[in-house]
Amino acid sequence: MPIFEYRCDHCGHRFEAIVLNGRQPDQCPQCDQPDLRKQVSTFAAHVSGSTSFPSAPAACGSCGDPRGPGSCRMH
Ligand SMILES: [Zn+2]
Repeated sequence: MPIFEYRCDHCGHRFEAIVLNGRQPDQCPQCDQPDLRKQVSTFAAHVSGSTSFPSAPAACGSCGDPRGPGSCRMH
């Protein structure tokens, strides 16, 4: 399922949207401004196993593991 993450350049709000039939959100659900910037798909990031996920609020502060301090092996 094509899920894309967007960030609003206007207010900084981040949200995920399921894109069906090419229908993408055209405005921020929080401030109604069309200043959206598509982020790297969280689904794709998960599949690729990328460890660079600085935007994840729960990432382990010690090693940066996106799964968080409760899931990473080191901490
Ligand atoms: Zn906004």
